[in-house]
Amino acid sequence: MINTRIICTIGPASNDYETLQKMYDAGMTIVRLNMSHGSHKSHSEVIEMINRLNREVPFPVGLLLDTQGPEIRTGSSELDLVEGDQIRIEVPPSPEKADGSLYINYPQLIETVNAGDKVTVDSGLVNLKVMEKGAGHLNCLIMDGGHIKGRRHVNLPGIHVDIPAITEKDKSDILYGMEKDIDYIALSFVRDKNAAFELKKLLGENGNKIKIIAKIENYEGVNNLDEIIREVDGIMVARGDLGIEIDMEDLPAIQRGIAHLCAVHGKGLIIATHLLESMIENPIPTRAEVTDIANAVFEEADAIMLSGETAGGKYPVRAVEHMVRTARKAEQHPGARFVKEMIKESSFQHIAAAAIQLVNDLKLKGIMVFTQSGQSAITVSSFRPTNIKIYAFTDSGKTRKTLMMYRSVFPFLIKFHDDFEETVQSALEVLRETREFDDEDQIVVIHEIMTKGNLVPSIQVRDIKP
Ligand code: PGA
Ligand code: MN
Repeated sequence: MINTRIICTIGPASNDYETLQKMYDAGMTIVRLNMSHGSHKSHSEVIEMINRLNREVPFPVGLLLDTQGPEIRTGSSELDLVEGDQIRIEVPPSPEKADGSLYINYPQLIETVNAGDKVTVDSGLVNLKVMEKGAGHLNCLIMDGGHIKGRRHVNLPGIHVDIPAITEKDKSDILYGMEKDIDYIALSFVRDKNAAFELKKLLGENGNKIKIIAKIENYEGVNNLDEIIREVDGIMVARGDLGIEIDMEDLPAIQRGIAHLCAVHGKGLIIATHLLESMIENPIPTRAEVTDIANAVFEEADAIMLSGETAGGKYPVRAVEHMVRTARKAEQHPGARFVKEMIKESSFQHIAAAAIQLVNDLKLKGIMVFTQSGQSAITVSSFRPTNIKIYAFTDSGKTRKTLMMYRSVFPFLIKFHDDFEETVQSALEVLRETREFDDEDQIVVIHEIMTKGNLVPSIQVRDIKP
């Protein structure tokens, strides 16, 4: 398995056991359940298949629930829009009519936009300019026309959307996810830190077992990154919406900036959308896509994500294979470290940094860490050590699954013994069974030892062989 983690969105192209198995074999590490599509019933079927798969495979697949968030959509009718024509937009409470006007499900639309503002439909394919505001409707000029199918996604670039950060649908989806023991929640369209506070309130006591990912999808999210990043476990660069909500040419620099911020703060980073878009139709990727994947690895992403490629595309398994092959090559070609200094607030961070230094100096293969909550392993991973594997040993199956999101972490389930030496020995036995080590190999072990009633972190260099 490679160090970079592969998130696959599941949909009609991949929601059968055999395909999921093949995607696992190809390198899928996390499954994404997109709440904008499907029903609780269809998601439950996927979850059951993953739980079954997890009983048969060496490393478990983690479950990521992605909320729909404060999304605006068109009505159910299909329309043909011709460039240069005008179109009338209707909003609730007007009922949707089949009279050729475009229905958008956001009641406050008329009061929020002004003449000159842009309304974008279907991920940037159709663009409208607001010409005048009428009573209960808008007249717009069609800048880019096209055929609109029903329930298409609408963006209002640069405009604050007055919909709660976590909608009623999101709440019900999140509660559903908690029942199903999901591992991560990706919150869509996070605009400020309050979204994270609200989610934590909803999660209550389960909060510390579920990792929170903030999807950055618009200007507000970008502008408030500094406060958002402190309240979440990771950031998703949601390039689909972000590429519409901001000037698209700003996207590469924003991605770099977010990657840098995540590295400095030691937070998780997911790069999402269009990494292999052409593979929805084609069996091979474009050169640009392959380069994009490699750049995400160079930018030290924990995980890279497939959306339509695996949910609805023609080649879900091949997409994973291409992603893994490309990421593997990129991992073998590390450039300079992306950040020089990350913020170190806890003493364990200094221990982790020292352990990494030791592994590098002695040219060892990895670091062994023992962790109940997973935090120690996440901390070591957050330094994004190059070509060092982090062997995380935990006595919690849940923690093990959660750790699958983090770069370079290889989590194993073992029993913890009162006598630490016994625990280390059983962990070393597990490593020997992986057959990744030679007899003369050594490994750095980080552990907290008990001295006069205090836990003191220690770093040891241990032989792999008994
Ligand atoms: P979505 O989020 O696929 O749920 O829209 C990702 C993105 O916008 O890139
Ligand atoms: Mn999005």
